[in-house]
Amino acid sequence: MAKRDYYEVLGVSKTASQDEIKKAFRKLALKYHPDRNKGNEEAMNKFKEANEAYSVLSDEQKRQQYDQLGPDAFEQAQTAGGAGGNPFGGGFGGFGGGGMDDIFDMFFGGQGRGRGGREAGPQRGADLRFDMEITFEEAAFGVEKEINLYRDETCDHCHGDGAEPGSKVETCPECHGSGYVRFTQNTMFGQMVNERPCSKCHGEGKIISNPCKECRGKGTVKKNKRLKVKIPAGVDNGSRLRVSGEGEAGAKGGQSGDLYVYLYVKPHKFFERDGTTVLCEVPVNIVQATLGAEIKVPTLDGQVTVKVPEGTQPGKVLRLKGKGIPSLRGGQRGDQLVRIKVVVPTKLNEKQKEALRSFGEISKDNISPEEKSFFNKIKNLFK
Ligand SMILES: [Zn+2]
Ligand SMILES: [Zn+2]
Repeated sequence: MAKRDYYEVLGVSKTASQDEIKKAFRKLALKYHPDRNKGNEEAMNKFKEANEAYSVLSDEQKRQQYDQLGPDAFEQAQTAGGAGGNPFGGGFGGFGGGGMDDIFDMFFGGQGRGRGGREAGPQRGADLRFDMEITFEEAAFGVEKEINLYRDETCDHCHGDGAEPGSKVETCPECHGSGYVRFTQNTMFGQMVNERPCSKCHGEGKIISNPCKECRGKGTVKKNKRLKVKIPAGVDNGSRLRVSGEGEAGAKGGQSGDLYVYLYVKPHKFFERDGTTVLCEVPVNIVQATLGAEIKVPTLDGQVTVKVPEGTQPGKVLRLKGKGIPSLRGGQRGDQLVRIKVVVPTKLNEKQKEALRSFGEISKDNISPEEKSFFNKIKNLFK
């Protein structure tokens, strides 16, 4: 069976760039991936063919050889090379189990695997956690707080690249500055070209002979940093705030991590809270509860006057619209609920007692329906 030309397989021109080759392969691999074409032999063959073409054309050295020899002679040269004669350096293994998932990941996986994102190259800074205590009112209306962080900052001396200023930085001879080396791997679909970080330069692509004195080549130094953090209105106990890019500085051009602020709301001496609702309890005396009254109630916006209706029972809840906590989403405020606590007087003087006794005397025949039904019930109970 005549071998198809690799350029033809990928559908690219002979002068295609590495990017174009990669894109073309990616498209084909997605289309013919065995996971999407279960039991389809034609797709499997197409997938193998695309892998093979890509493994050659994505490697400049191999591609050159392929261009010179043409498809048939190239294949003969490959076969003649045999297992021991892998002309492209890199050994096998090193990438754990290898296999389909790794290969697939390599092309379609997250950014971490892309150039510049590998472990030993630019490194993202770590995330930081800061625990902050705020008052009930600060949680309700928001606040700006200044905090002090002790964190990795980009080294001023070397501007983060880790080399002593003015010193020589060599391009790594092993990987020619790319930070990774290619190696071939045998899989069930034939040979695959894979990549791993260069061991000589630890994936950095360059060799620093004179590391920065300040950071000892790390690119970052620990420093105190004062930072203003804006706490939005409506946060609650246990809320977590993400402040993007305010974690530890990344090394060697990597991104900074994020800062996570965990909030603890101090208990209030008068208010409690349930979501956007503020709860409180207000005592009234029996005269106010019985005859009705206007009482002063504290709210987050200051005192307001509330009308307690005539005949208010203990535990009655009054609602103050819009006096609660703003919602984190949208900012609309909840309500305040005022629970009425009727206080029974304890230390009455003789005159007060007398007044109550005469109140009792003239109220004998004026008992409430509730009392009536209660007495009826216990009458039956003791018959
Ligand atoms: Zn430095
Ligand atoms: Zn290297």
